[in-house]
Amino acid sequence: MYPKVFESLVESFRKLPGVGLKTAERYTFQVIEWSDENIEQFIEGLSNIKTGIHRCEVCGNLSEKEICEICTDQSRDSSTICVVQSPKDVIAMEKTKEYDGLYHVLNGVISTSKGILPEDINISSLLNRIVENTKEIIIATNPTVEGETTALYLSRLLEPYHVNVTR
Ligand code: ZN
Repeated sequence: MYPKVFESLVESFRKLPGVGLKTAERYTFQVIEWSDENIEQFIEGLSNIKTGIHRCEVCGNLSEKEICEICTDQSRDSSTICVVQSPKDVIAMEKTKEYDGLYHVLNGVISTSKGILPEDINISSLLNRIVENTKEIIIATNPTVEGETTALYLSRLLEPYHVNVTR
């Protein structure tokens, strides 16, 4: 039996994807070895995660402010919106430095097997964003069954709008 404090931290680590009991215990032993500074940083990160991170009101991306830096950046091409599944996809696209349009983060995909319906993900706000200036919507969902289903749903939904929809 480990001390209660230890067990409690193990339980927290086990909630992370792919972390079993052995790994969680290894992480906990590791944390014990950390410097006070590292522990402070970890505590600060955890305690701010709920209050310091929002979903951007416009695009759904993770943001420190109500509207994210990409949406407020006037130098970006606002006529193009790239639809992605998660904030991770935005980061990956930004790293390539080849895209300077805007994003729309669905925060999920339609999945009949998991019971995730179009209204469960960030779709309705996408339609509100289509203005006269909008020329192109790029659907960049992942090439999985769910990603394809979502892309097909979106392209049908966008048909009545006068925008180019590309995959
Ligand atoms: Zn945004």
